[in-house]
Amino acid sequence: MNSLYTITAIKAFSDNYIWAITNKSNNSTALVDPGDAKVCIDFLKQHQLSLSAILITHHHPDHTGGIEELIVYCQQQQCPLTIYGPANEVISHCDVKLIENDLVNLPELNISMRVIDVPGHTFGHIAYFSESDTQSFLFCGDTLFSGGCGRLFEGSPTQMLNSLTKLANLPETTKVYCAHEYTQANLNFALTVEPQNDVLINYNNQVRELREKDISTIPTSIKIEKQINPFLRCAQLSVQASAKDFSPSTKSTELDTFTTIRRWKDQF
Ligand SMILES: [Zn+2]
Repeated sequence: MNSLYTITAIKAFSDNYIWAITNKSNNSTALVDPGDAKVCIDFLKQHQLSLSAILITHHHPDHTGGIEELIVYCQQQQCPLTIYGPANEVISHCDVKLIENDLVNLPELNISMRVIDVPGHTFGHIAYFSESDTQSFLFCGDTLFSGGCGRLFEGSPTQMLNSLTKLANLPETTKVYCAHEYTQANLNFALTVEPQNDVLINYNNQVRELREKDISTIPTSIKIEKQINPFLRCAQLSVQASAKDFSPSTKSTELDTFTTIRRWKDQF
């Protein structure tokens, strides 16, 4: 079925994606994690869109750096703008501070999203989830990537595993919009952890073809990530065995396996 929205990637920096959600009927647009204002303003002008909301997942500058300039842009356009962000982090100019299970209603877009707390990459990181019969989608910032997960800058392995488990429990058809094109590098690591995973081998071939043509590999889905992403597969014997090979003191638990493969990836 045709959706009411389009979700478009705006490329920023070397490998960031700023996601633009647009209501097709009125061109009202929300931006997720606009780290760079210029690319966003160019996009809005080119497609004659009016910016009504900014959704922030966490405080890192490559996700927040465009806020101030976008506020000025909206003032010039006389467009009301609301900025949403995590309650547990300091986000400049944040109008609505969000915690787990808060609902973000964007009337101009006719869309509603639920907030999921996903600490780990940063202390107060949140994700935005929209569920519908036709298409569910998730904006997860730097928590879950295709084939990988964010580095643990501020949180513990226990927090990150818990956050990833929440995301893995969303409907399998959920489209996952993460904030970086890290897929190929992540899959090189995933194949080292699970060299015999046939779904992963096939997915890696598809990703290589897409990247050779400079095509984005995002969105991914919860279904594919559960089959290929080692950080969602820490209960699998294959992943546990590889973690033990890398670090023999690793116990055969999800948490110990996660802790070891996250440390392994940091050095990979
Ligand atoms: Zn980050």
